[in-house]
Amino acid sequence: MTTRFDGNFTQQMAIPETAIAAAVEVMRSGRLHRYNVVEGEAGETSLLEQEFAEYVGVPYCLAVASGGYALQTALRALEVAPGDPVLTNGFTLSPVPGSIAAAGARSVFVEMTDGLVIDLEDLEAKCQSSGARVLMLSHMRGHIVDMDALLRITDAAGVAVIEDCAHTMGAHWDGVPSGQHGVVACYSTQTYKHINSGEGGFIVTRDAALMARATLLSGSYMLYERHSTIPSPDVFDKIRLETPNCSGRMDNLRAAILRPQLTDLDDSVAAWNARYDRLEERLANTPGLKLIHRPDKEHYVGSSIQFFLRELVEDDIESFLGACSSRGVELKWFGRAEPIAYTSRYDSWRYVDEQHLPNTDALLAQLFDMRIPLTFSLEDCDVIAGIIVECARARA
Ligand SMILES: *Cc1c(COP(=O)(O)O)cnc(C)c1O
Repeated sequence: MTTRFDGNFTQQMAIPETAIAAAVEVMRSGRLHRYNVVEGEAGETSLLEQEFAEYVGVPYCLAVASGGYALQTALRALEVAPGDPVLTNGFTLSPVPGSIAAAGARSVFVEMTDGLVIDLEDLEAKCQSSGARVLMLSHMRGHIVDMDALLRITDAAGVAVIEDCAHTMGAHWDGVPSGQHGVVACYSTQTYKHINSGEGGFIVTRDAALMARATLLSGSYMLYERHSTIPSPDVFDKIRLETPNCSGRMDNLRAAILRPQLTDLDDSVAAWNARYDRLEERLANTPGLKLIHRPDKEHYVGSSIQFFLRELVEDDIESFLGACSSRGVELKWFGRAEPIAYTSRYDSWRYVDEQHLPNTDALLAQLFDMRIPLTFSLEDCDVIAGIIVECARARA
């Protein structure tokens, strides 16, 4: 009898009871807007910003309406102007090129390596050829490039790095939290990320002027003195009337839901990695299947797993995917000419000038991806890996 997996790949954990109680408190108060506080009250959003700033180890943090909004706002706060080139990964999620488009700028895509990170050689060449002064670096699927080597290149070229940490909240490179390396870092608290408020995001930085612009852009209604993780009011004096209000604030209800989840984040990371490592162990040594190398300096969050299947032609891939899916295992394949569901490949974004990344094309043609919700047990991981191995062997 063939085994089948009955779990749901999009089912996340329930919101913790402490978070539900905190959310109910906010609703009872009626004070959902972040600036609607009573005398002496900090407000859930400000408290969350303090806790997140401390978690990442940076002085300034702004909570906003989504991860994509955080990215757009970071670009604007860096004074990227319409028409400017912005370097970014050829393999990432659609809100990344979408945020560049929202700022009126132009995405210049950089190749990836078989470690699923940005290709530093191509980056170095495009820093010169594009004239870009900003790199939006996506730690796509939680794979972190050698940050020391990357910063040597970008520093030499005078390119500022925005880190897209949507998949690296809780991760580190060489002991340094992901999000501390760039000039500014953005996170998402959307349901499929590492903490869940439905929608939401953060911008963190050490740059006072940048944070002042981001705060005004997010729609502070000149109430920025109510924040505790932004620069002092004098930094705002020069720019307060020159910076448009592009509302995208976080509210107290979402912040209340997130605070207990942030407290538990390191436990969640351990739970994800136990599942990731179990899957990796079970998938290892499967003929034709290649796992992604994880460097020693990378402390990852295994909230998804990727692998290459070598030497399969398109028909074989379709039957492999069909076999897995008929047994309840949902895999995403990035090689399809016309994408199904969400898009992660540079040539799917047709509002961007046409570009060619042959190495990325060849890699994505063999790349598979699977979410690892924490609702899966370790035994579920065994069943899933067993199904993938059997289906891969049948095609090899
Ligand atoms: C989810 C995600 C974002 C931000 O997404 P929002 O849905 O706008 O919060 C940014 N980059 C990557 C790689 C993502 O997966």
